Amino acid sequence: VSVEWQVSEIPGGLELRLSGKIDEKFDIAPVVSAARPAKRVAVRLSGLRAISSLGMRTFEGLVGALRDGRELSLVEVSPALATQLTLIPNLCAGARVESAWLPFACPSCGAEVSAAVPWKSTGHIEAAPTCECGAKMELDGLPEQYLP
Ligand SMILES: [Zn+2]
Repeated sequence: VSVEWQVSEIPGGLELRLSGKIDEKFDIAPVVSAARPAKRVAVRLSGLRAISSLGMRTFEGLVGALRDGRELSLVEVSPALATQLTLIPNLCAGARVESAWLPFACPSCGAEVSAAVPWKSTGHIEAAPTCECGAKMELDGLPEQYLP
Protein backbone atom coordinates (compact mmCIF):
# COMPACT_ATOMS: atom_id res chain seq x y z
CA VAL A 1 0.00 0.00 0.00
CA SER A 2 1.48 3.31 -1.05
CA VAL A 3 -0.95 5.58 0.82
CA GLU A 4 -1.76 5.30 4.50
CA TRP A 5 -4.74 7.12 5.89
CA GLN A 6 -6.33 7.56 9.26
CA VAL A 7 -9.44 9.40 10.40
CA SER A 8 -9.85 10.98 13.82
CA GLU A 9 -12.39 13.30 15.45
CA ILE A 10 -11.69 17.00 15.84
CA PRO A 11 -14.03 19.71 17.19
CA GLY A 12 -16.89 20.06 14.71
CA GLY A 13 -15.75 17.36 12.33
CA LEU A 14 -13.08 14.91 11.26
CA GLU A 15 -9.41 15.03 10.53
CA LEU A 16 -8.05 12.85 7.77
CA ARG A 17 -4.33 12.16 7.81
CA LEU A 18 -2.77 11.07 4.53
CA SER A 19 0.79 9.86 4.26
CA GLY A 20 3.03 8.00 1.85
CA LYS A 21 2.86 8.32 -1.91
CA ILE A 22 -0.29 9.06 -3.90
CA ASP A 23 -0.52 7.47 -7.33
CA GLU A 24 -3.35 6.27 -9.55
CA LYS A 25 -3.73 3.11 -7.46
CA PHE A 26 -4.96 5.07 -4.43
CA ASP A 27 -8.57 3.98 -3.86
CA ILE A 28 -10.40 7.05 -2.55
CA ALA A 29 -13.79 5.35 -2.07
CA PRO A 30 -13.21 4.07 1.50
CA VAL A 31 -11.71 7.44 2.49
CA VAL A 32 -14.68 9.36 1.14
CA SER A 33 -17.07 7.01 2.87
CA ALA A 34 -15.23 7.34 6.21
CA ALA A 35 -15.54 11.13 5.97
CA ARG A 36 -19.18 11.08 4.90
CA PRO A 37 -20.80 11.90 8.29
CA ALA A 38 -18.64 15.00 8.87
CA LYS A 39 -19.73 18.59 8.20
CA ARG A 40 -16.15 19.74 8.35
CA VAL A 41 -13.06 17.85 7.19
CA ALA A 42 -9.44 18.85 7.68
CA VAL A 43 -6.93 16.90 5.60
CA ARG A 44 -3.48 16.78 7.20
CA LEU A 45 -0.77 16.20 4.61
CA SER A 46 2.57 16.63 6.37
CA GLY A 47 3.36 12.94 5.82
CA LEU A 48 2.76 12.98 2.10
CA ARG A 49 6.14 12.16 0.56
CA ALA A 50 5.23 12.20 -3.12
CA ILE A 51 2.43 12.52 -5.66
CA SER A 52 2.77 11.11 -9.16
CA SER A 53 1.21 13.03 -12.05
CA LEU A 54 -1.64 10.52 -12.29
CA GLY A 55 -1.88 10.71 -8.51
CA MET A 56 -2.66 14.41 -8.83
CA ARG A 57 -5.86 13.51 -10.65
CA THR A 58 -6.72 11.01 -7.95
CA PHE A 59 -6.09 13.68 -5.31
CA GLU A 60 -8.26 16.19 -7.20
CA GLY A 61 -11.02 13.59 -7.23
CA LEU A 62 -10.66 13.11 -3.48
CA VAL A 63 -10.83 16.86 -2.84
CA GLY A 64 -13.90 17.13 -5.07
CA ALA A 65 -15.69 14.30 -3.28
CA LEU A 66 -14.76 15.54 0.22
CA ARG A 67 -15.83 19.14 -0.29
CA ASP A 68 -19.28 18.09 -1.45
CA GLY A 69 -21.49 19.89 1.08
CA ARG A 70 -18.65 20.26 3.57
CA GLU A 71 -16.17 22.76 4.85
CA LEU A 72 -12.86 21.38 3.61
CA SER A 73 -9.40 22.52 4.59
CA LEU A 74 -5.91 21.28 3.80
CA VAL A 75 -3.38 21.63 6.61
CA GLU A 76 0.38 21.12 6.71
CA VAL A 77 0.60 20.59 2.97
CA SER A 78 3.92 18.80 2.33
CA PRO A 79 6.54 20.10 -0.15
CA ALA A 80 5.48 17.48 -2.75
CA LEU A 81 1.94 18.88 -2.85
CA ALA A 82 2.81 22.54 -2.13
CA THR A 83 4.91 22.58 -5.31
CA GLN A 84 1.92 21.36 -7.35
CA LEU A 85 -0.43 23.87 -5.69
CA THR A 86 1.81 26.81 -6.55
CA LEU A 87 2.00 25.65 -10.19
CA ILE A 88 -1.73 24.93 -10.52
CA PRO A 89 -3.64 27.17 -8.07
CA ASN A 90 -7.03 25.75 -9.14
CA LEU A 91 -5.98 22.25 -8.25
CA CYS A 92 -7.82 22.25 -4.96
CA ALA A 93 -10.52 24.77 -5.78
CA GLY A 94 -13.14 24.85 -3.04
CA ALA A 95 -10.74 23.71 -0.33
CA ARG A 96 -9.10 26.20 1.99
CA VAL A 97 -5.34 25.68 2.22
CA GLU A 98 -4.36 26.68 5.75
CA SER A 99 -0.72 25.82 6.14
CA ALA A 100 2.31 24.18 4.57
CA TRP A 101 4.83 21.82 6.20
CA LEU A 102 8.19 23.04 4.93
CA PRO A 103 11.90 22.30 5.41
CA PHE A 104 14.02 24.86 7.27
CA ALA A 105 17.77 25.01 7.79
CA CYS A 106 19.83 26.94 10.30
CA PRO A 107 22.29 29.37 8.65
CA SER A 108 24.48 29.24 11.73
CA CYS A 109 24.86 25.56 12.69
CA GLY A 110 23.27 23.74 9.73
CA ALA A 111 20.50 21.99 11.72
CA GLU A 112 17.40 21.01 9.73
CA VAL A 113 13.74 20.81 10.80
CA SER A 114 10.30 20.89 9.21
CA ALA A 115 7.72 23.39 10.42
CA ALA A 116 4.14 24.44 9.71
CA VAL A 117 3.79 27.90 8.20
CA PRO A 118 0.70 29.87 7.13
CA TRP A 119 -0.25 29.44 3.46
CA LYS A 120 0.76 32.87 2.16
CA SER A 121 3.75 34.45 0.44
CA THR A 122 5.31 35.62 3.72
CA GLY A 123 4.45 32.49 5.72
CA HIS A 124 8.04 31.21 5.78
CA ILE A 125 9.22 34.48 7.35
CA GLU A 126 6.39 34.90 9.88
CA ALA A 127 6.61 31.36 11.16
CA ALA A 128 10.34 30.67 10.77
CA PRO A 129 11.40 28.41 13.67
CA THR A 130 14.19 29.38 16.03
CA CYS A 131 17.08 26.91 16.07
CA GLU A 132 18.33 25.29 19.30
CA CYS A 133 21.49 27.39 18.81
CA GLY A 134 19.39 30.57 18.96
CA ALA A 135 19.53 31.58 15.29
CA LYS A 136 16.45 32.20 13.16
CA MET A 137 16.08 29.34 10.68
CA GLU A 138 15.64 29.89 6.94
CA LEU A 139 13.45 28.15 4.40
CA ASP A 140 15.42 25.42 2.64
CA GLY A 141 14.40 26.32 -0.91
CA LEU A 142 12.73 29.19 -2.72
CA PRO A 143 9.50 30.54 -1.21
CA GLU A 144 7.84 30.73 -4.66
CA GLN A 145 8.51 27.00 -5.00
CA TYR A 146 6.24 26.20 -2.04
CA LEU A 147 4.02 29.19 -1.22
CA PRO A 148 1.38 31.15 -3.16
ZN1 LIG B 1 21.43 26.53 14.61
